[in-house]
Amino acid sequence: MKTLSQLVFNNTYSELPTTFGTAVIPQPLSDPFLVSVNPQVAEMLELDPLEAKTRLFIDTFTGNEELAGTTPLAMKYTGHQFGHYNPDLGDGRGLLLGEVLTSTNTKWDIHLKGSGKTPYSRQGDGRAVLRSSIREYLGSAALNGLGIKTTHALALLGSTTLVFREKMERGATLIRVAESHLRFGHFEYLFYTHQHCELKLLADYLIKHHFPDLLTTEGGQEDKQTVSANQHHNIYASMLTRIVKLTARLIAGWQSVGFAHGVMNTDNMSVLGLTFDYGPFGFLDDYNPDYICNHSDYSGRYAFNQQPSIALWNLSALGYALTPLIDKEDVDAILDSYHLTLQRDYSARMRNKLGLAEKREEDTVLFSSLFELLQSQMVDYTLFFRTLSSISATDLSVSALPNSIERFDDLFSCTQPLKKWLKAYAVRLNFEKDDDESRLEWMKQHNPKYILRNYLAQQAIDKAEDGDFAMIDELLQVLSSPFDEHPEFNQFADKPPYWGKKLEISCSS
Ligand code: AMP
Ligand code: MG
Repeated sequence: MKTLSQLVFNNTYSELPTTFGTAVIPQPLSDPFLVSVNPQVAEMLELDPLEAKTRLFIDTFTGNEELAGTTPLAMKYTGHQFGHYNPDLGDGRGLLLGEVLTSTNTKWDIHLKGSGKTPYSRQGDGRAVLRSSIREYLGSAALNGLGIKTTHALALLGSTTLVFREKMERGATLIRVAESHLRFGHFEYLFYTHQHCELKLLADYLIKHHFPDLLTTEGGQEDKQTVSANQHHNIYASMLTRIVKLTARLIAGWQSVGFAHGVMNTDNMSVLGLTFDYGPFGFLDDYNPDYICNHSDYSGRYAFNQQPSIALWNLSALGYALTPLIDKEDVDAILDSYHLTLQRDYSARMRNKLGLAEKREEDTVLFSSLFELLQSQMVDYTLFFRTLSSISATDLSVSALPNSIERFDDLFSCTQPLKKWLKAYAVRLNFEKDDDESRLEWMKQHNPKYILRNYLAQQAIDKAEDGDFAMIDELLQVLSSPFDEHPEFNQFADKPPYWGKKLEISCSS
């Protein structure tokens, strides 16, 4: 494990031409202190988590000290926000400090969110508040714990600097860690400003650093595209194919755990298929496919059930921006592959949740009737699957069924339709070859006990605003391994209280 000053930096992005960003020095926050550090993320960087308590760490990541080896830079990108192109975007309140290189040659971007104004801040103050930083800190740990690709957060730092949102709040910084901070919007910027040589340079950069297998003769075969029109191999077509696949897998992951991102603008879409830029995100409590987590999303453009089609819309925007490198008809053909990957990945994830190793045609009916049932009775999505993970085949026998149904009493207002569904499920389980005990173990590993419910995040925020950070660390612990029992934290697995379901999360952060 290394100390902070022992980290090795290899800053490849800042070596790109100046059109890609602007060097900016972070602006200091007052009286900084550590709120929380995520030891798992420290480990990824080979950094001793105890370093987070040092003055150097706290001062470095609140803009009070410069760390040797870093080259702070605000990235330039643009993007489509709620369907409209905005040329005026870029890191307005965050900086890429540098890229840490580990002993295994893994490269991690270190990004400081809330570090002050940049040339891309527009009317903004360049700051992030403690409230929204806690949400991103816990949200990213939650998705990572669920096995869904995401940016990470190494630590959260607080200060006495006042920041005005709807009211006065405290400024904070979040140290975001990711394989890359490249967004769809990076490519859109270069396309719409007619910098096509730089567009190619960025594509080459992405391939070299993140999809190097596409450069070898053997690697990345399934994504290698032999372009239809002229039958030559186009590496950029392979790159887009890879991005489409990674995005489809990401969305399958979100839909399976009930995660709503809330602001799927193209500037918030990662080319590596990472969950990126946590704003007013939310996890489903009751199963409601129309769930809109973003209070400012009046039309429901980014509602939970719109995410699959919005991701494709965003991929089309990216594909269009890549037309100087890929023929239009090939872009269309590549985009066509999205649905198949999404469908395959989503159905595999949902079969895992129901403990169905075999793939059978009648499963479609079993799933659709389940979703209908969950929606009609507004059943808690997470708790339903977790409860189901404790129901053995014997529990579903005619004599045991009434008792088993009692375990769902808390979740259903009327259990008659559940009974019918469980009977169909019992019949379906007869076709499973694995023994029942391993099936239930498998299901527990795919149906989390803990998710980051809005009300839990809110409670942690309320306490933190009063100076008590213990709940942040407790939630971090359960969310990092959400499939485990953690009996000492059972209360975090409870159904949300009524007030907790009605929380409105605004875009202000
Ligand atoms: P977001 O809605 O967080 O995805 O941000 C959209 C754009 O607004 C990005 O270019 C951000 O950098 C910028 N932005 C968001 N909040 C602020 C802020 N407080 N100060 C400056 N720029 C901001
Ligand atoms: Mg953003």
